[in-house]
Amino acid sequence: MPKLRFQALAAVQNREDIKIVDIEKRSSLYGRNVFGEQAMRQYLSKSAFVSVQNAIAKGDQIKRVTADAIASGMKLWALEKGATHYTHWFQPLTGATAEKHDAFFEITSDGHVIERFDGGQLVQQEPDASSFPNGGIRNTFEARGYTAWDPTSPAFIYENTLCIPTVFVAYTGEALDFKTPLLRALNAVDSAATDVARYFDKSVSKVTATLGWEQEFFLIDSALAAARPDIALTGRTLLGHASAKGQQLDDHYFGSIPTRVLNYLKNLEQECLALGIPVKTRHNEVAPNQFEIAPIFEEANLAVDHNSLLMDVMEKVAERHKFKVLFHEKPFAGINGSGKHNNWSLATDEGVNLLSPGKTPMKNLQFLTFFVNTIKAVHRYEELLRASIASAGNDHRLGANEAPPGIISVFIGTQLTNVLNELEKVTDGKLSPQEKTDLKLNVVGKIPEILLDNTDRNRTSPFAFTGNKFEFRAVGATANCANPMTVLNTIVAQQLIDFKKAVDALIDQKDMKKDDAIFNVLREYIKESRNIRFEGDGYGAAWEKEAKKRKLSHNRNTIEALGVRISKDVKALFTSLHIMNSVEVEARYEIEIEEYIKRVQIESRVLGDVARNHIIPTAVHYQNVLIKNVQGLKAIYGDEYSAFAKAQTQILKSISDHITHIDADITAMTEMRKRANGLDLNERAKAYCTKVFPYLEVIRNHCDKLELLVDDELWPLPKYRELLFVN
Ligand code: ADP
Ligand code: MG
Repeated sequence: MPKLRFQALAAVQNREDIKIVDIEKRSSLYGRNVFGEQAMRQYLSKSAFVSVQNAIAKGDQIKRVTADAIASGMKLWALEKGATHYTHWFQPLTGATAEKHDAFFEITSDGHVIERFDGGQLVQQEPDASSFPNGGIRNTFEARGYTAWDPTSPAFIYENTLCIPTVFVAYTGEALDFKTPLLRALNAVDSAATDVARYFDKSVSKVTATLGWEQEFFLIDSALAAARPDIALTGRTLLGHASAKGQQLDDHYFGSIPTRVLNYLKNLEQECLALGIPVKTRHNEVAPNQFEIAPIFEEANLAVDHNSLLMDVMEKVAERHKFKVLFHEKPFAGINGSGKHNNWSLATDEGVNLLSPGKTPMKNLQFLTFFVNTIKAVHRYEELLRASIASAGNDHRLGANEAPPGIISVFIGTQLTNVLNELEKVTDGKLSPQEKTDLKLNVVGKIPEILLDNTDRNRTSPFAFTGNKFEFRAVGATANCANPMTVLNTIVAQQLIDFKKAVDALIDQKDMKKDDAIFNVLREYIKESRNIRFEGDGYGAAWEKEAKKRKLSHNRNTIEALGVRISKDVKALFTSLHIMNSVEVEARYEIEIEEYIKRVQIESRVLGDVARNHIIPTAVHYQNVLIKNVQGLKAIYGDEYSAFAKAQTQILKSISDHITHIDADITAMTEMRKRANGLDLNERAKAYCTKVFPYLEVIRNHCDKLELLVDDELWPLPKYRELLFVN
């Protein structure tokens, strides 16, 4: 009998609840381990405090002497909280977070032992981080990388280490992380959106992008996970027959959270709150053992850091509760996968949400301006937006079976569609006073009312307007939000710059009033971007056809999708806004392609091993049991035995067929890998995608058939019903 699976199942049955009680109010826990405004006021001199605040609000440089003062206050605070080490905390392009801890402890030249942390250590470090992906940047320039403090994201203490959020760049200036281009994109959208917002309100001096992510994930028992090499090494099941009961009854979604999971979530929330991650919502998701956690939205850079930190904390807390968190976009075939919706909006320094209609017609025109410009930006750069969420894991959610296609469209609901239809009829040129009054009263002025009862929700749309924000739903659960957020804020920035130019040109050259000019430009934008709007079923086959007619891109996998990232237009976009130069754009493309190849390569190897070393031997073993049985029947019944051994002989034959296929397919798949490995990067990627990857499905199918034939007692891997329903 296979030991591991049954030991794991026994372990799960014997798990003791780790009971977590909320002893403190969440509000008093919040930010306890963060060097935020409150701690700064207490531990910094007034001038040091002001200079950090100015760095956050206006991007002002912090002088070295001030940095020393800040470091000293920060150290005092951290030591009082029990910190022993500090680290620059950054997000290299591996997708995980990185840290290298140094102790505060130091021995001075005269032999004294002290706790040291000065401005230099706060501001800049040079980790020996040569093994992080760099897409050839550092080979080309022979440059070292360094990390530099990002004062806009506060330092925090996690597990006795003071973590200082930083960017990670090459000495030649090229970004080697997710944060650097994001910060540049946020700057670009700030400046472009501020200019446009000032058409409506002269007092606006800054616009921040806001992000509220929703993290989906699966939780399975760690003993069961450890008994599955595929889960341990790839984060998903590469084989496993569907459970007779899956999600068909919809009885998990929003159901009561299992006690063991609730204890985990409570523990997680306590840790998150202390770290300043404002988690608010938790609930069961659609699939069994699938859950979601979501915070209150924050400024985008901080929200991105918080999501990266959350994923890390989730894994650590899970270890304590003997769970394994699966972030993979499709850990189980046949049931829902996991995404990370990115709710996005723009807010002024006065706290006005630019995607929320206001009380006056002018505020509503402001809303419409940002609303239409976002739609126009998505239309213009739909393929780039699709590329920003491309990954081997997300390929299973976009474009594969039972998943939405990799086509970007925007859903806005019937009511707002009607508003845009009305605006398309606006007169070309100057508007008559009557028309303007009409518009203000009956179209623009009515927006708040119609939005109030706008309950239209289309769950199949990858990019949906949900009342006061857009929700980018196609983002994968493992993704670092920085990637889609960099792209979204960049394309909106570019669009707003072009909008401002067009409006100003009408005012200057055609002598139009500001309102007239805005209406005129919006009218054209609405017409030009109409094809991106889609209100129907985004999962249906009809949409694929329709999208093709509308000339929307439909890239079915990561390799097809990534191509656009190095196109002339995209390079021009990133370069002109100083978000990434051509070298950085190309480096990222290379890193993503390589990551794709590696993921498929690992999956292919793991499946080859599991199928050959676990599945075939098990099947052979069971065949021997059947052979013995048939021999026994023959001994008893002589020539008549076959009448009693029909099923057995049929199963024997089926098992042989599947074994033959599995063995031949693994050999062919390995051969394909070998051939692919000899090709250059782009060809190799294509080969992995179109030649290697399809074998995974074929081999899996034979293994899954065997799972149904072989004695359950002999099967070595925890089954879907165990992974999904035992906890
Ligand atoms: P749902 O989309 O499930 O109806 P909510 O509308 O409350 O739920 O919001 C979902 C997510 O959207 C939350 O993470 C929330 O913080 C975020 N969100 C709400 N308003 C904004 C905004 N203005 N900018 C960015 N994110 C927002
Ligand atoms: Mg939502």
